[in-house]
Amino acid sequence: MIKFLNLKKINHQYADELKKVASEVIDSGHYLLGERLKTFEDNLAAYIGVKHAIGMANGLDALRLILKAYMQIGVMQEGDEVIVPANTYIASVLAISDNRLKPVLVEPDINTYNIDISLIEKHITNRTKAIMVVHLYGSVCWSEKLEEIARKHNLKIIEDNAQAIGAIYKSKKTGSLGDAAGFSFYPGKNLGALGDAGVVTTKSDEMAEMVRALGNYGSKVKYVNEYRGLNSRLDEIQAAFLNVKLKYLDAENERRKEIAKYYCENITNKHIILPSGQGQSHVWHLFVVRSSERANLLKHLQENGIQTLLHYPIPVHKQNAYSEWNAMSLPISELIHREVVNLPISPVMEESEIEKVVSAVNSFKS
Ligand SMILES: *Cc1c(COP(=O)(O)O)cnc(C)c1O
Repeated sequence: MIKFLNLKKINHQYADELKKVASEVIDSGHYLLGERLKTFEDNLAAYIGVKHAIGMANGLDALRLILKAYMQIGVMQEGDEVIVPANTYIASVLAISDNRLKPVLVEPDINTYNIDISLIEKHITNRTKAIMVVHLYGSVCWSEKLEEIARKHNLKIIEDNAQAIGAIYKSKKTGSLGDAAGFSFYPGKNLGALGDAGVVTTKSDEMAEMVRALGNYGSKVKYVNEYRGLNSRLDEIQAAFLNVKLKYLDAENERRKEIAKYYCENITNKHIILPSGQGQSHVWHLFVVRSSERANLLKHLQENGIQTLLHYPIPVHKQNAYSEWNAMSLPISELIHREVVNLPISPVMEESEIEKVVSAVNSFKS
């Protein structure tokens, strides 16, 4: 069986280093807000090319706290609108609605699967305060047009960079393009912790200070609470693991690019729609193909020993969690959710496994 993602194998590559830093943390007697977090924040900020990185408990909290910070600063208030792609992972949308802001779902581009920037302007109202772009599957969502729209309507741009760490747009990394960005280090992400972790990056001193305080009980000085914050901190042990794994991220992303290139050049089945995008602008968190006969394709791949996943099977607006949107029609998102299949992609796949995936996909007959 070719696994969709062999996490054990990924982390095993660095087992000696990971065990060493874990025992250092145990022996240090210091488990939160210590020097390992500080080192990771500095390393990550330098890697992304941004002034501040603030550790958070997970990616959802990173996004949630960016918006909470904007509300605390007075940039947004309850009921204001945030534009978000309709086909994103539910976390992007939850971060908005959890702050009693209104998510405004916009259809993606059928070729890139990222928000269709040409549709944004017609969704802007006098309550719109921000656009949340999601670099979905690892592919950059950015353009000059997007910057122009934000400037013209005085909107913040928040990047959901959970899936695209390391991706580059015109020599700048995702996470440094907008006003603030949320990252996830969920174990399966391109930079994965061994548990939950996340980060906010921003060039704004005000945002950085506010997010840091809000994630630590609204406090800058211990037991002095300026805001009604929450508890969302990145553990020392996860920071230590992430410091180890960050060194290998570029090499792992390069391997993902090689595999994606091989898939794109060698999958020739006419019934399969390949993803667009290559080069620096895609770090291939996921390799997503489409088929109008998905059920048969899934069955065929399974019979050939290939594990697949669907990202995502149900669009946000069809989930029970957002039942008020269930009657909405978003045909492009719905088409994507009906047809997508993720092929295995990970830095630890072997040549023989990659070839086996290609031949299984190519032998699919509709
Ligand atoms: C993983 C993910 C998140 C949330 O990250 P967690 O660390 O799981 O909270 C947010 N947005 C997108 C697009 C994701 O893929």
